[in-house]
Amino acid sequence: MSRQSLATAVATMALLSPPPAPSEPHRTDPHPDFRLRLMGDPALSTLAARVESPDQLHYALLPSMRTILARTRGLGLAAPQVGVALRVALVWQHDDKAVQRKGERPPRLELLAMLNPRIVNRSPQRLVWSEGCLSVPGFTTSKTRDAIVVVEFLDAATLLPREVKLFGMDAQCAQHELDHLEGRNLTDGLARPLRRRAQRDVADAVAKLAKEPQALGYHPLYRLEGFEP
Ligand SMILES: [Zn+2]
Repeated sequence: MSRQSLATAVATMALLSPPPAPSEPHRTDPHPDFRLRLMGDPALSTLAARVESPDQLHYALLPSMRTILARTRGLGLAAPQVGVALRVALVWQHDDKAVQRKGERPPRLELLAMLNPRIVNRSPQRLVWSEGCLSVPGFTTSKTRDAIVVVEFLDAATLLPREVKLFGMDAQCAQHELDHLEGRNLTDGLARPLRRRAQRDVADAVAKLAKEPQALGYHPLYRLEGFEP
């Protein structure tokens, strides 16, 4: 399906899907059309198109993405990961100024819902991070990322343009999610043994899900049909 026709299909599905009850944003499963895709799914290698009709995303796509992120306790999620080739990304921003114990993750500040995001500035400093991806459950690898990035986007909540400076883990997450919008993945360019390990980790996760539907607590969140490890 072409990018344009997929965008139209999403708009149509969005119009057919009622918005979730505001008091229970995370108690329903994601819309079945917007479940997480796993490594190897062609949706993860597709270049995402610009969002031209942001209002329609609120009925099904964004609530489904928020549900998935909440249930998996993920840091970020991009629309291609739920099979939608649109430039939409969720990124948790953390409060770097908050005092926390050593090794503790800083408290969450805001879930940034970014439409058409792009990095407009980056620090010369780079850091090596351990990185995972909801589309490659169970797998982590080290990745070099810019330590600070400035991201410009249309805020999905207000539909106003914003510019946000992200540091450390948040900068890493934004770069990871924006890579998804280009069809780039954590496992791209890995040496063959590491890539095989990622495939094995995904296959193990799928086997667990098939045997025990509530394994990992993720079952209704993933699209397992047609998955071939
Ligand atoms: Zn990812």
